Amino acid sequence: MSGARQGLGDMAVQAVLGIAQELFGEADHDGLLRVRFAQAHVLISGRLDTWDAWEDLDVGVKSLIGRLLRVRHNELASLRRFLDASRRVCAAPNSPFRLPDGVAPYDADHASPMHGQQPLVFARRLIEAMEVEHARQRAPVAAADGGVWEFGGRERAQVTLPDGFKTPGVSPVVITTAPYLGEFPVTCKELIAITAELDRAWGGPAWREGVMASILAGLRDGDGLPIEELLLAAGRMNLLNAPTGVGKTVLMRVLGIAAARAGVPITLVARDIDDAHAVRDALDGDIARLSWPRDRPECVLLLSPRRMHEKALLAAELGIWERVDRLGYGCTLASFVTSGPVPAPGGEPCGSITRPPKGDGWNSGSGGGRSCCPWRGVCGRHAPARAAGSADILVTYHHYLARGQMPVPVSIDGMDLDRASVLEVVMRRCPLVVIDEIDQFQDVLVQTSTQELVLAAKNQTAGPLPLAQTGHS
Ligand code: SF4
Repeated sequence: MSGARQGLGDMAVQAVLGIAQELFGEADHDGLLRVRFAQAHVLISGRLDTWDAWEDLDVGVKSLIGRLLRVRHNELASLRRFLDASRRVCAAPNSPFRLPDGVAPYDADHASPMHGQQPLVFARRLIEAMEVEHARQRAPVAAADGGVWEFGGRERAQVTLPDGFKTPGVSPVVITTAPYLGEFPVTCKELIAITAELDRAWGGPAWREGVMASILAGLRDGDGLPIEELLLAAGRMNLLNAPTGVGKTVLMRVLGIAAARAGVPITLVARDIDDAHAVRDALDGDIARLSWPRDRPECVLLLSPRRMHEKALLAAELGIWERVDRLGYGCTLASFVTSGPVPAPGGEPCGSITRPPKGDGWNSGSGGGRSCCPWRGVCGRHAPARAAGSADILVTYHHYLARGQMPVPVSIDGMDLDRASVLEVVMRRCPLVVIDEIDQFQDVLVQTSTQELVLAAKNQTAGPLPLAQTGHS
């Protein structure tokens, strides 16, 4: 582990102990304030759903915890790792928290604050320092200029860009965090009216209004009563259960239209990439037929660039030419390859090409001087990612939301990063996220984001189970 990573980990422990001091700190029988590691772990694990008081917590404190979760190491979500880290950090000389006297460090379950500051001010300063370090480690790499570059795995390829080559520049995609939205209520009447409007706009058999009326008539609230509006509230998951084939996909698309009309960015998450294509194309067709008081909303499919070529070929086979135009791209860098294999479609080295090592041949040694492809900011391969910064409706799918990384630099609220997770971009841009088949999404999250799992058994807890990560995107 590098010094910088170690620094971030220690700062995360101290910051969460500061927040826990504010929220849960209690005096022992000698009047000494103590902060329990188990309570701090609830915060840093992100399992805030297990804490009853979370819903009513001040928005500013919630936001501070969110900022900490964004930059802390994932391993601190593990109770065992967090306990190890907390005991080590609090046992260090000059630590802002001290372990209790008379207890072996490996047995300590709490610490006492020694920093003498207002706990949230203490935590906020640490989190700000973490954010600066986090961004420094992810600073955008420069675009390659003239000369020789290389890329590839075992079989390296060489690219020669002309001397004096002027890079087109790689501007980051500007992502602005949406303002807090406490709730988004939409009445059943409004949803049915949109479907009636769509029926009129499309002509032909008027089936949408009936489907929507039927699904809404069957919905019940938590008390078993019929509903008159869907109230999407911030912070918690609003679950809608309905059998397959009753029109949930239509409801999803109509919610997209209702949000766009209200000027609220929304993300629709389909089960897989093919469903996401279908949702995006159907919604784009709907949007084109409706009238809009202001500009027509932009609906963008956010998908892994690795899959674009494959899906463009499939669309060509099916004769869906609009999709071919949208997904097809050519790799300009490939035309500058002077030795070795050209990049395989889907595996282009957009974010990383390096100077070959000086000395005895470009194919030996570790090389250096990492840059990105000079066409990364204008290439068609990254058009969907670039559009994500301004689209009114984003459409994506489970795996990409869970594991995807933006393939282009982003500027998040003014902070430039070489890459950010798709999940972060979605959560910052869109106050509303509608996920189809949420149980399958949770399954994807567990499969792709978990390194260990603690299983509960009757009257006991099984030990942590190590899990292997899978590599879908
Ligand atoms: S950004 Fe475009 S041109 Fe550059 S390597 Fe990637 S696909 Fe090729």
